[in-house]
Amino acid sequence: MKKISLVVPCYNEEETVNLFYDEIQKIKSDFKGVSFEMLFVNDGSSDKTLEILRRLSSKDDVRYISFSRNFGKEAAMYAGLEAATGDYVAIMDADLQDPPALLHEMYEILESGEYDSVATRRVSRKGEPIIRSFFARLYYKIINKISKTEIVDGARDFRLMTRQMVNSVLSLKEYNRFSKGIFSWVGYRTKWLEYENTPRVAGETKWSFWKLFLYSLDSIVAFSTVPLSIASVMGILFCFVAFLIIIFIIVRTIMFGDPTSGWPSMVCIMFFIGGVQLLCVGIMGQYLSKAYLEVKRRPIYIISETEKDKK
Ligand code: UDP
Ligand code: MG
Repeated sequence: MKKISLVVPCYNEEETVNLFYDEIQKIKSDFKGVSFEMLFVNDGSSDKTLEILRRLSSKDDVRYISFSRNFGKEAAMYAGLEAATGDYVAIMDADLQDPPALLHEMYEILESGEYDSVATRRVSRKGEPIIRSFFARLYYKIINKISKTEIVDGARDFRLMTRQMVNSVLSLKEYNRFSKGIFSWVGYRTKWLEYENTPRVAGETKWSFWKLFLYSLDSIVAFSTVPLSIASVMGILFCFVAFLIIIFIIVRTIMFGDPTSGWPSMVCIMFFIGGVQLLCVGIMGQYLSKAYLEVKRRPIYIISETEKDKK
C-alpha cells in the first residue's frame, strides 16, 4: 500500500486548518489502496493554530510539528519534508489555494513512472495588485537571466514528489533556503500542471510587499553570483571612462588653456562614483552576510512539540 504525506506549513491559520482537513477527507475516496498522512507544521503561530492541531491529531492520519517560534515557510517546509514518511510527499498551503482536487491527477502521473515530480504553476495573476504583478514579472526576468537554475514564473510550492526526490531535496542542507530554486536544482523529470489562481478560503496572506522584496533578494544571492561580477565590470568600465576624460582634458588644456571651472560637475562625479562604490560594497556585503550565516551552522528550525509529546 502506497502512502502519501501532505506537508502543510501553518502560520496563524486557525480559520483554515479544519477546512483543509475536511477537504482532504472528501478527496480520499478517489484513491484506491493509498493511505494518507497529514503533517501540519505550526510555524510559531500566535493564534489558536496549535490548539486546533493538538485536537486534530487524535485522528490517526494527522501528525504535527510545532516550532518554538516563527522560522518562516521555508523552514516549515524543510521540517515537514524531513518528518514525512510517505512514498510520495506533497507540499500544500493551509489556505486551500492549492486545490486538493489536483492531487489525484498528480498521483496518477507519478504512478505511471514517467515523472519524478508534478509541480503546479498559476497561469494568471488575477486578483493581485498591479504593482505586485509588475515587480513579480520583473523579478522572474532578472533571476532567469542571471541564474543557471531555472526559476519558473508563477510556480507555486504545491507539488507532489517521489521519495527519491524528497531525499535529494533534503540533502541540500543550506541555511538560506529558497525552495523554488532547490526543486529545480536537484533536477529529475518534472511535469507542470497549470491552474487559475484561487483566493484564500479564510484568513489573510502572511506576505507583505516588503517581505516578498527581501525574499526575492535572498533568492538572487542564493542562486546567482552574477551581482558579484558587477563590481569588476564597473571597475573596468570606470577606468576606461577615466582614461578618456584624462586625454580629453589634456588636449583641451593644451588647445584652450586652463580656465579653472567645473566644480559642479566635479561634485556630481564624486557623488556618482561614491554611489557606485557603495553599491558594489553593499553587494559583496550581501554575499558575505549569507556566508556568515551558513558557517554558523545554526539549525534551520527548533521543534518545541510534536504529536508524540501531546499524550
Ligand atoms: N506560512 C508559514 N510561515 C510563514 C508564512 C506563511 O508557514 O512565516 C504558511 C501559511 O500558513 C500558508 C503558506 O505558508 O499555509 C502560504 O502563506 P500565504 O497563504 O500567507 O501566502 P500566499 O498564498 O499569499 O503567497
Ligand atoms: Mg495563500
